Amino acid sequence: MHIEPVSSPYKADPKITTPAAGLSEKIGDPAVPAEFPKGILRWRNDRWADTVGLGTLPDEKWLAHFGRFEALPDNLPTPLALRYHGHQFRNYNPDIGDGRGFLFAQMRDHLGRLMDLGTKGTGQTPFSRDGDGKLTLKGAVRELLATEMLEALDVHTSKTFSIVETGEELWRGDEPSPTRSAALVRLSHSHIRFGSFQRIAFEQNEEMMHALVCYSLRELYAAEPSDNPAAQLLELVVPRIADLAASYMVAGFVHGVLNTDNMNITGESFDYGPWRFTPKWDPGFTAAYFDHQGLYAFGRQAEAMHWNLGQLAVALRLICEAEPLIAALEKFPALFQAAIVRRFLWRLGLNSNDEASDRQLVEAAERAMMAENIEIDIFFLRHHAKSSLDWQAGSEEYKKFLKQLDQYQISDTANPGTDIAVCSMHIEEVESIWDAIAKDDDWVPLDTKIIEIRKYSNFLHGK
Ligand code: AMP
Ligand code: MG
Repeated sequence: MHIEPVSSPYKADPKITTPAAGLSEKIGDPAVPAEFPKGILRWRNDRWADTVGLGTLPDEKWLAHFGRFEALPDNLPTPLALRYHGHQFRNYNPDIGDGRGFLFAQMRDHLGRLMDLGTKGTGQTPFSRDGDGKLTLKGAVRELLATEMLEALDVHTSKTFSIVETGEELWRGDEPSPTRSAALVRLSHSHIRFGSFQRIAFEQNEEMMHALVCYSLRELYAAEPSDNPAAQLLELVVPRIADLAASYMVAGFVHGVLNTDNMNITGESFDYGPWRFTPKWDPGFTAAYFDHQGLYAFGRQAEAMHWNLGQLAVALRLICEAEPLIAALEKFPALFQAAIVRRFLWRLGLNSNDEASDRQLVEAAERAMMAENIEIDIFFLRHHAKSSLDWQAGSEEYKKFLKQLDQYQISDTANPGTDIAVCSMHIEEVESIWDAIAKDDDWVPLDTKIIEIRKYSNFLHGK
């Protein structure tokens, strides 16, 4: 499929930057891209390609770089499978790393940020263990749907940059098999994970820890390292992750695998496997079928991310005293609450009143959603910009919410009176979009959904 490029407001300026001098050979190992029997272009994200100066690449070249992984000119000569460890469902695993992907290229975007093009499904690497290094086409389509929907809902997320179908048959326990294969490229603000720091702590390499911390500060936070760079970095990461946790809640999103190897040091969300959107405001809603304890359930994601930040702090202890790290961690709950309020107001299209009533409005909204058993997306859209104030509410909770809503002013970015259909991303629709591809090679439902999401995004962003 191919969505028409929107004209970019930015002048393409691909200032190519390879990883900071001296660091690249220490953060990853050279990887050889798999050779695939086929290369069928299924998705190119021209809107985001524009921001790194690649929007006008002809399809043939696109396929050479993002289907066959020929190096981009003046960029990484050899892909790097990145090294990391991680806590997976709270168990430390020192046997992971980029097992089916690699860092392919780095460049500056229109905002001057250092961006990575990283892959998924490009073959075995030194970290593959028993895995085949491949990605199913369904996995790629799911990552595309997640990233588009999250971007619309204002979640800081990686972007699905490219999907090339690769013509192999894969066998998977969680999909009818054989199933089709793909190579996915994601555009993301770094691929340095909490687990990258954990690996360095595991190896007790103080010099490398210092180097990676300073690299992250300079390249990813535009900050000059102080005399306590580890604490400085954690102080910057905590607010980003608190906001990310809040953004998942207000989007109704459940990532499913909030392991420390899936946490980006920039606070950007990435790596979408068994994700789901919860239809209702149900704190116990769980996405991954293998998450038997509900560790990463909808309502436990902030707790999980805070715990992950704790593990990052433990790693940073290698070069830092405990006190300033603890002080940074302790800011998380208040930052999370503030971000929840800000994001609730955004989805409702309202200005803030005062802290206490904002907080009450959010609590009333949560109670109303639960009392009415209403879908989250319907609730937000119904009351966006104070519409439906005269809604014939059933429950007392709903009535209380409407009364509070009445006290608020509509924000400038809201779209009052706009007639737009609700746009959700529930599992049944995801499955039906995939079924059309699997059964009939029909890409129209996916195409249509992306257009619908982008329209919804414009609505939410006051465009
Ligand atoms: P994920 O659950 O996708 O975050 O992956 C966790 C770890 O398992 C990472 O180190 C991956 O690279 C690795 N992994 C997952 N699937 C495969 C696969 N098919 N082949 C090789 N490694 C894999
Ligand atoms: Mg992962």
